[in-house]
Amino acid sequence: MPITKDSRTQVTISLPNYVVQISQTLLRNNFKAYLVGGALRDTLLNLNPDDYDIATNALPSQIQKTFPQSKEVGAKFGTVIVPVYIPAYKKYANIEITTFRTESDYKDYRHPSKVTFITDITNDLARRDFTINAMAADLSVVKDITPLTDPSKNITLTLPLIDPYNGIEDLSTKTIRAVGNPLERFKEDPLRAFRACRFRAQLEFDIEPKTYNAIPRILDLIKYISKERLQSELVKLLTYANKPSLGIECMRKTGLLKYLIPELLDTVGVEQPIMHKYDVYTHLLKACDNALKKLEVRLAALLHDIAKPFTKTPDGHFYGHDKLSAQMAEKILKRLRFPNKTIKHVVTLIRWHMFYYPNYIEELEHKQPPSKWSDAAVRRFIQRVGLEYIEDLFQLRIADAKAISPKVDPYPEINALHKHIQKVLQQEAALKISDLKINGNDIIQHLNLKPGPVIGEILRYLLERVIEDPALNKKNTLIKLAKEHLQKNPKSTN
Ligand code: ATP
Ligand code: MG
Repeated sequence: MPITKDSRTQVTISLPNYVVQISQTLLRNNFKAYLVGGALRDTLLNLNPDDYDIATNALPSQIQKTFPQSKEVGAKFGTVIVPVYIPAYKKYANIEITTFRTESDYKDYRHPSKVTFITDITNDLARRDFTINAMAADLSVVKDITPLTDPSKNITLTLPLIDPYNGIEDLSTKTIRAVGNPLERFKEDPLRAFRACRFRAQLEFDIEPKTYNAIPRILDLIKYISKERLQSELVKLLTYANKPSLGIECMRKTGLLKYLIPELLDTVGVEQPIMHKYDVYTHLLKACDNALKKLEVRLAALLHDIAKPFTKTPDGHFYGHDKLSAQMAEKILKRLRFPNKTIKHVVTLIRWHMFYYPNYIEELEHKQPPSKWSDAAVRRFIQRVGLEYIEDLFQLRIADAKAISPKVDPYPEINALHKHIQKVLQQEAALKISDLKINGNDIIQHLNLKPGPVIGEILRYLLERVIEDPALNKKNTLIKLAKEHLQKNPKSTN
């Protein structure tokens, strides 16, 4: 355990130079500075915090004056973000500076309706959700540190710890415990119940029984939480946790899952007699854990078979589950207000996850003659999925296969298809409409047509032909093909 705590309750931690410099600037302007929240928690756990949170008695306007490059964030009232450029990473790191505050009157369960700025850190810690998130390390004891030339380099400091709820003990016993009365704290803001499950997975801690048992008692308040806040917790669960399944299971057992993705509950106990070792729910959770920590891949893994309960045949098949799962996933993600770009990405992965590329090893095992895809079939595959999604589709496929049974090895198939795709890409054949040696204007001109949907229809037809036979991708040939197509389908001019 890297946590060292002596009798004066001090902690020795290592912080990036740029965080220390920001706190020094606050101190030089006679303000206080404490490292708080997830940044302190993760630093104590020897993890790399995503962002650093500093609490201060400076008011938001004073913070902005002190750091002219800063900006206030609307979502978190009174929080000011200071971007610091880190040459070593070639990017900005954001430090969130928040004025000490109390929060009260969570009338709409979305935001506290009353935020009062205060001058003391202890009362600020009281409003925080869990003991491990309610500690503060006092940066004011660090006077006049000479700036290091590299802002990303770490400085080791021994700092007094303000820890009214004994969060340090809960950190060392890996316990998630509400600050104060759990039921009251969850009633104040029911999102905290989801956060408990998220931290359960992210930190792989256990939830203390009183805190855990309070969750089923606040379920009727969840309807008041905004979908955006729910989404943000789901995103953190899927992108921070090694095993998101720990959080999803926590939500299922406490009743929360019904309010986040109820469709997952329908998959519990749906057996898959062919090939699979697990029921659909267990398979989805395992696939999600196996997947890369990339949001779209994890979402796709979690939802890729979500329609299986509705497509199961008496003989144990799930025909069409890929298409229906894509439709259901779209609905779920829209409901959770995910951006359209994310939805399209996830839905595409789910829609095409059932490809089957016969590979050499399988052919040997089955003693079948080679039945590989033709180059045209590979081009059709790329065109259907979209080149930009193929790597992630493979990642989904690997996560999926590993969750079927330990015996399934996805790599020979993926590697063989990967190679074939590389080969096809090197041929520089057309894969999308913009690769055609003809465009909409050419068609309008040469076929004497008016602009309209028919132009797109002709271009799609030409692409299909060129995907089958790349030699057709010449301007004159395409014009000829377009004319023939139009003659055969005169109705499409209307
Ligand atoms: P991470 O950065 O890993 O998401 P975090 O603990 O920093 O974890 P944030 O959502 O960034 O989580 O919040 C920062 C701090 O603000 C938390 O550590 C906690 O002290 C407090 N906090 C955040 N949300 C709530 C909430 N809904 N109720 C009470 N306190 C909260
Ligand atoms: Mg944080």
